[in-house]
Amino acid sequence: LMHLTRKLIEIRSMLLSIDQSDALKLPSIAVIGSQSSGKSSVLEAIVGHEFLPKGNNMVTRRPIELTLIHTPAKDGKLPVEYGEFPGLGLGKIRDFTDIQRTLTDLNLAVPASEAVSNDPIDLRIYSPNVPDLTLIDLPGYVQISSLDQPETLKEKIAGLCEKYIREPNIILAVCAADVDLANSPALRASRKVDPLGLRTIGVITKMDLVPAEQGAGILSGNRYPLHLGYVGVVAKSHGKRSNSDTGLVAQRGEKDYFGSNKEVFGSQSSLMVGTDTLRRRLMEVLESSMASSLHGITNAVQLELEEATYQFKVQYNDRRISPESYVAETMDSLKLRFKDFTQQFRRPVIRAKLKGMLEDKVMDVLEQLYWLDKRAPELGVLGSDPKLKPEDVEPYWRHKLEAASSLLTKSGVGRDSTLLVADGLRSLIDSIAAGEPFNFHPRAAERLTEFSHMILRDRIGVTSDQVENCIKPFKYDVEVEPREWETGRERAVQLFENEVSMCEQKLQEIKKKVGGGRRLNGLIGYVKSMEEKQKERSLKFADRSDGEQQGEVEEQPVESYRYPPAQLSDARYAMMYSDRIGVLKLRLMALKSKRCRAGPQSEVFCPEAFLNVVADKLAYTSAMFINIELLDQFFYQFPREIDSRLLYDLDRKEIVEFARENPVVRRHLDLQERKDKLEEVMKQLNSLSTLRADPQPAPRRH
Ligand code: GDP
Repeated sequence: LMHLTRKLIEIRSMLLSIDQSDALKLPSIAVIGSQSSGKSSVLEAIVGHEFLPKGNNMVTRRPIELTLIHTPAKDGKLPVEYGEFPGLGLGKIRDFTDIQRTLTDLNLAVPASEAVSNDPIDLRIYSPNVPDLTLIDLPGYVQISSLDQPETLKEKIAGLCEKYIREPNIILAVCAADVDLANSPALRASRKVDPLGLRTIGVITKMDLVPAEQGAGILSGNRYPLHLGYVGVVAKSHGKRSNSDTGLVAQRGEKDYFGSNKEVFGSQSSLMVGTDTLRRRLMEVLESSMASSLHGITNAVQLELEEATYQFKVQYNDRRISPESYVAETMDSLKLRFKDFTQQFRRPVIRAKLKGMLEDKVMDVLEQLYWLDKRAPELGVLGSDPKLKPEDVEPYWRHKLEAASSLLTKSGVGRDSTLLVADGLRSLIDSIAAGEPFNFHPRAAERLTEFSHMILRDRIGVTSDQVENCIKPFKYDVEVEPREWETGRERAVQLFENEVSMCEQKLQEIKKKVGGGRRLNGLIGYVKSMEEKQKERSLKFADRSDGEQQGEVEEQPVESYRYPPAQLSDARYAMMYSDRIGVLKLRLMALKSKRCRAGPQSEVFCPEAFLNVVADKLAYTSAMFINIELLDQFFYQFPREIDSRLLYDLDRKEIVEFARENPVVRRHLDLQERKDKLEEVMKQLNSLSTLRADPQPAPRRH
């Protein structure tokens, strides 16, 4: 029989870890009583140690799930007593004052504003001096709410206790002998859920504070009959409170008391007195209660197991996973995805990207040196003269070309091209870190971006220096082959045509915005006339020696009100775009002319073609060295860093935590664990049926 309770206590805590629903609960003993009724003293007497928090302000703020495990003597030697908090991982605690301190800390951790918490503390005590029992210590009922306790405290405590005194639990109602039972909050609460007193056991403390006859009267239970009876105790510890042998001292006091009142308590054999009796009584009651729950719980577990098995089949096709396998898969898929992405960084792709960047630079250089130059149209006219030899062109144009070429080659190509590629890598990593499954793992994502950015930082300086070094020759001299020239020229034509159509589109947009071509022309005419006037005016100003300007000041506002300022600015943009189109069209004609087609000797006439060839060469060289210095290094290091930095140093607990960050994996693991645990419980329950060949004896009375 002993064995059965022991097993059932084990099964009970397994069931608690599966879920907290009432359906899967084996009974425990819920200990209730008002503050100062002697509840703690009773529990400590049962355990034989002082271990519960003491203090003036309410000390039990969380339920304590107290599991007592009897450890039998081995080879005539008594095993060491110890306690354990399975939820905290503190290991075995041999010193009961440490247990007391831990419980106090856990209680004090409940914010004062909440006062009590529903979250139970799991405490196990292993000792040769305890019976196999499970008890739940609950906050004591308070009579009056004091000032520093919240208004609702009374209800909160009552609600919490109510949850624990439901079926199938046994209720241990602690009442002090010197308080009228009619006023006992514990008995009142018990009667609400167990009106017939079938699963309530009364404990009358402080028997020494009332006359023996009166005490015996309470224990007889005539006034408030309880099926499981009353046990009278004297649990007060005499003398040293902090001594860990309190239990023994208290027990002696109790024995003395009942011993010296033998004539009252000994004569009626049905009266139960003393802590030993209480212990035995609790064991019997728990045993028989558990035994009678056995059938029901077995059925409930069977149902839950069937459901879990079915769900596991339907949802996951019986596929088992482990946190470890998830971690390994995550890293593998990361490497795989990364490998896919590296395709975006093949050399031709990089070269095209760099070329794009350099073409923008070419256009900037052209704008700066040619398009804004008032003499720009001359160049086309010069180029169309077949008799003019390149060497006869004014030195002005030759200098211009040299300036343009050096502006391009000295524009920081090494740094810009390296950063362009590095930014590409960075945003690639950022997109991996932001996507599944790393969106579920913010800390891992942070690590991932951190170490990849670090690799990049390490390489950027070296790479941009190397690239800059290798394009150095182009800063002095660029040799152009006829085939390169032709490609450059064609590309320039293409770029200009694109630019023209872009400008035309912008013009079109402005036209639409201001309300048609005619209106735009009107605006432009107006802006031009304003500019003319402005010019005249500044000439006049320049002529005048003194500041006689009233005439003009009066004129100005009248004129400005004709059009809204936003439209005037649109008109100015429109003028800029059409000027630009004009220049570009002229240059396009030149680029398509015989002169330009002739080859590299025409470079003075066709700077656009020449600069495009330079850009091409720069892109080619940069791409080559970026590939060696940056990409190859990065692609080599990255997978290695994943192995050695990403999830390498996780212990079992962290691996589980990591896996559970992903909600899909968490659900899978939860169901899998639930099924496993239910299977295990079912196995244990089945093994019990062999132990339970005999029917359980009915609860006895002493
Ligand atoms: P709790 O608040 O219900 O946990 O009550 P305690 O166990 O802390 O007891 C409250 C007070 O009653 C303490 O001062 C105890 O020493 C005292 N006390 C507890 N049991 C007995 C007893 O059997 N006899 C006497 N005389 N005092 C007791």
